[in-house]
Amino acid sequence: MKSAERAPNGLFVNTKVRDYIECFQCGKLRCVFSNQALDANEKKELYFIKEEMNYSCDSSLVEEDHEFYTKVFVHEKITCKTPIELAYYSSNLRRSNHNSQICYWCGFDGGLVDPPVDKTSNYKFVFLCCCWYLEKGKDFFYRVEIKTNKKTGGKKRNFSNNSNQIQNVANQLDMYRLNDTNICHLI
Ligand SMILES: [Zn+2]
Ligand SMILES: [Zn+2]
Repeated sequence: MKSAERAPNGLFVNTKVRDYIECFQCGKLRCVFSNQALDANEKKELYFIKEEMNYSCDSSLVEEDHEFYTKVFVHEKITCKTPIELAYYSSNLRRSNHNSQICYWCGFDGGLVDPPVDKTSNYKFVFLCCCWYLEKGKDFFYRVEIKTNKKTGGKKRNFSNNSNQIQNVANQLDMYRLNDTNICHLI
C-alpha cells in the first residue's frame, strides 16, 4: 500500500468508510477510510485513537510511525471550515445508524430543519442544515437535479408551505439556543 500519494487512488468512496472520528476543534465527524475492512485488533486500535488522541482536521489520522499511517486514512486536505464529507451521508455505516443526522455545514445534530419542498422536489440529494446556519444565510446544499416534473414520492417528509417551516425554524432556534449556545460559534 506504499504510495507517493498519501492515500491510495480510489480510497475516498462511501463503500470504504469504516468509521468516523470527531475533530476536537470543530467537532465535525470525519470519515475514516481503509481499503480493507478493519479486523478486530484494528478496530480496537481505532477506538483507542478516537478516545485518546486529539484528531483535528487538516492532519493525518496518526503519526508517521504508526501502522495505520499507510493503511487507514482521513481526508487531510480539509480544514475545520470544510463541510461534512458527502461520503458521510452515503456511507452504509451511517445509514445503519439512526442517530447520524447532522448538519452539512457545521456537523451538529441538533436544530435540523426539514428541507423545503422546492428543494426536495427538484434535487435528488438535499443535505441537512441546522436552523443556525439557515439564519446565517447558508442554504440547504443539494446535488443532482431531478429531470422529471415535481417528483416528490421518494422523500420522507414534505411541508405544505414554507411559512410553517419558517415558524418551525424560529421555534427550534429559541429552543436549541437555550441548550447549546456554544455549538455554532466556531466557524
Ligand atoms: Zn475540524
Ligand atoms: Zn449547522
